[in-house]
Amino acid sequence: MATREFDFLVLGSGLAGLSFALEAAKSGTVGVLTKAQAEESNTGYAQGGIAAAVGEADSWELHERDTLIAGAGLNDVDAVRFLVRQAPEAIEWLRGLGARFDVRPEDNTLALGREGGHSRSRIVHHADNTGWEIERAVVEAVRKTPNITVYEHTFVTELLMADGRCVGAAGMVEGVGLRTFLGRRAVMLATGGCGKIYSHTTNPRVATGDGYALAKRIGAQLRNMEFMQFHPTTLYHPQMRSFLISEAVRGAGATLRNHHGRRFMYDYDERLELAPRDVVARAIDSEMKRLQTWCVYLDTTHLKKELLEERFPMIYNSLKKVDLEIHKDWIPVVPAQHYSCGGVVTDLRARTTVPGLYAAGEVACTGVHGGNRLASNSLLEALVFGRAGAAAAAEEEPYKGPAPDPAPVRCVPEAQAVRIRHGVQRTMTDHVGIVRTNAGLAQALGRLEELRADYERQPAAEFSVYAAETPNILETALEVVRAAIARKENVGLHYNKDLLSDDSR
Ligand SMILES: Cc1cc2nc3c(=O)[nH]c(=O)nc-3n(C[C@H](O)[C@H](O)[C@H](O)COP(=O)(O)OP(=O)(O)OC[C@H]3O[C@@H](n4cnc5c(N)ncnc54)[C@H](O)[C@@H]3O)c2cc1C
Repeated sequence: MATREFDFLVLGSGLAGLSFALEAAKSGTVGVLTKAQAEESNTGYAQGGIAAAVGEADSWELHERDTLIAGAGLNDVDAVRFLVRQAPEAIEWLRGLGARFDVRPEDNTLALGREGGHSRSRIVHHADNTGWEIERAVVEAVRKTPNITVYEHTFVTELLMADGRCVGAAGMVEGVGLRTFLGRRAVMLATGGCGKIYSHTTNPRVATGDGYALAKRIGAQLRNMEFMQFHPTTLYHPQMRSFLISEAVRGAGATLRNHHGRRFMYDYDERLELAPRDVVARAIDSEMKRLQTWCVYLDTTHLKKELLEERFPMIYNSLKKVDLEIHKDWIPVVPAQHYSCGGVVTDLRARTTVPGLYAAGEVACTGVHGGNRLASNSLLEALVFGRAGAAAAAEEEPYKGPAPDPAPVRCVPEAQAVRIRHGVQRTMTDHVGIVRTNAGLAQALGRLEELRADYERQPAAEFSVYAAETPNILETALEVVRAAIARKENVGLHYNKDLLSDDSR
């Protein structure tokens, strides 16, 4: 079997993977494996922006304080400080690659948006399409870098170990077959999140939790998987499922109303619509349950049409396509899974607990987010820790041994994969969502174990990416449930009604 060899092997082509690749390319050859086309990633869908204390009245200390408050005291303080201090330079690095961010016409300085949980305006953005612009810039830079080779439509099936360290990965290359890829100095896991373990998510189809499962199988430590962030405001519409209405819209003054037209956030939190996401998501969940409705409404009708069109062109035009005029109509919204705060444990240099394996971005748990992520800190985390990982990986001694043999890939028939995947998604949505209970979590664990046994019983079938993702979805969901059962206090994003009643007794 042909082996491709590099100094550094990167798994995933979002911001974490490609910022690592661009830095690592200064000290060696880089191979990037990505399961769809290079641009397909959570990064490309980010709307609001990227947080950095670059405004006049701002400081890294304030950014740090806001991040710690959002994280409910569970953050790693050193990781937070590292993140926020690097932020202004990281923005300049992106601009140096050609990323275009909005500037104020009067003085050409960065135009800064405001989002929930931030005490200052500090969201650097490109209209409401920031992720697309960042991904465009990093992909273009990667394509211009001679010693980076990108393998698109290459699905990573296994992390390869030799001499007690991770030295590469096996990848199913579309139209070619299974290939071995070596990263002699380091392997960077940057496979993004796991939204597809739920029925409703803002994440694109590639977010199937592959990285968590791959890392777990070689013994890497995972942490904080119970802290799952649900975005409060995704469109509730049959023609456009899970389309995100950015928090920046609430930052610009949009309000939330229930079916009676009442601005219900007055009943839940004094910060109203700009309370942290978990507070807003729980308030919406509670309001929908209380009034037995399928959605609530985001009201932008009091905002100027010109402001909405100019500041949120993508949202404005997308909603128009489903006959919603946001300066006239209330937007029906529901919460949906959005971001996984936990993941593969890393240190400040993106090193995991397995030698040779690095991790950055959504798949990693650097400790930055603690119990809850502050809005727009995730692109920043992917960028800062992706680059920090490259600096550390450049110091690794190369592995000089032969390429290990990958295990044969076992897939089940696609129809069975569809059934099992839907079973996982239904279970997670019903029992491991915004509000949890002891009985629900126990039921979820039992059901997921049944689905795993069901999966094991299926006959082998031809390889398909969809089928190959299914055990990863299962394993990642199991990690989330086990972590939720183990967490015995309501903190951050973890909210179990039974723990609440225990406390109040
Ligand atoms: C709709 C939406 C809006 C958001 N808005 C914001 C925002 O405004 N600000 C902010 O900070 N964050 C935002 N986020 C979160 C942020 O976009 C992500 O956390 C971040 O982009 C993650 O980057 P990443 O590089 O870790 O992963 P990704 O960008 O998701 O990249 C993961 C890559 O890994 C590849 N991959 C996965 N599995 C495999 C496999 N088995 N084999 C090969 N390749 C694989 C994928 O194809 C992809 O290329 C938003 C997310 C979404 C979905």
